[in-house]
Amino acid sequence: MPPETDGPGPEAKAQPDASSTNKRLSQTPSAPANNLYTIEPVPGKGLGVVAAQRIPRGTRIMEDTPLFIVPVAVTNLAVMKQIIAAGLKNATKDQQREFLALPNAHPQNGPLVGTASTNMHPMGGASASEAGMFLLACRMNHSCDHNAQNTWNTRRKRMTVHACRDIEKGEEVNLRYLSGVLGYEERQQTLKSFFGFKCKCERCSESEEMRAESDRRREEINRLDERVNDGRRIVQEPVEALHDVYKKLEIMKEERISDGFVARTYHDGFQIAVANGDLARAKVFAQRYYNETITCFGKDNPEADTSMALVKNPEKHGLYNKNGKWKQGVDKIPKDWSEEKFEEWLWKLPKGGLKA
Ligand SMILES: [Zn+2]
Repeated sequence: MPPETDGPGPEAKAQPDASSTNKRLSQTPSAPANNLYTIEPVPGKGLGVVAAQRIPRGTRIMEDTPLFIVPVAVTNLAVMKQIIAAGLKNATKDQQREFLALPNAHPQNGPLVGTASTNMHPMGGASASEAGMFLLACRMNHSCDHNAQNTWNTRRKRMTVHACRDIEKGEEVNLRYLSGVLGYEERQQTLKSFFGFKCKCERCSESEEMRAESDRRREEINRLDERVNDGRRIVQEPVEALHDVYKKLEIMKEERISDGFVARTYHDGFQIAVANGDLARAKVFAQRYYNETITCFGKDNPEADTSMALVKNPEKHGLYNKNGKWKQGVDKIPKDWSEEKFEEWLWKLPKGGLKA
């Protein structure tokens, strides 16, 4: 199965809103662990993380360990409160103060549970079984046009944050709090109900016309994603499936989606090639999958090893040669071709390109 694109689900993590600004500024936030960023007031958002220098794509911006962990399955407020209180007992006085000064989008659940559920990050994507309270990482605000990717690194037991786009000095570092590729209305509703704020990010502030265009692109990405993940098509209509992966990546580029979803999409391409016995294309896709994995998750993420294993031995994948339609060895990877010609070969593009 394709790797889960890591990203916090809507059940956790909130953006501070203007109403919480004063309260938050009176508290000292966790100090930055390196000189890549500062934590400072961001207009309309309370505190935020701002690049102190140019941060190239793929740079690890920060790592953070959880102050406490709450199993996602725990929904009973009293039990939740107990877990949080026990976790806070082991924290320093400063950490306790810092936690309690964070915004609380669910005051009806009390200060502990409300604050925790507003600010926690799932540990391992939308399907995570646990969520953690990360005092440093929770300073990063949301944007629907995010430039950083957070991931729970199971090996290092830390949350890592990588630049998924080049970030200029002075630019705010933003994460995506929502899992999935959602349209404008759905994003606003989810952010409002889970985190208590209206998103005014660059994307959400575009003209109505541009927002509608973005919504159309996002719908198309989801439609293609569904088609690409239809196992039958991989063997029955492999060329069409491969073209869908290509189109999905093109639209993602237009939509400026450059996070872990790109790695997952190259993995889709890998599966189609390997299932049809084409080790040449499979190896190229595996290499791109690996490159994107280390860019957004880091070389020390276990996913780097699994993707590298596919680069080294694509034929060991469980889907290998389900259908021998394209059977060829890795020696068939073209050498010294122009980029354009190479891409035409890789994606089996017809002369004149794909129809929109
Ligand atoms: Zn937005």
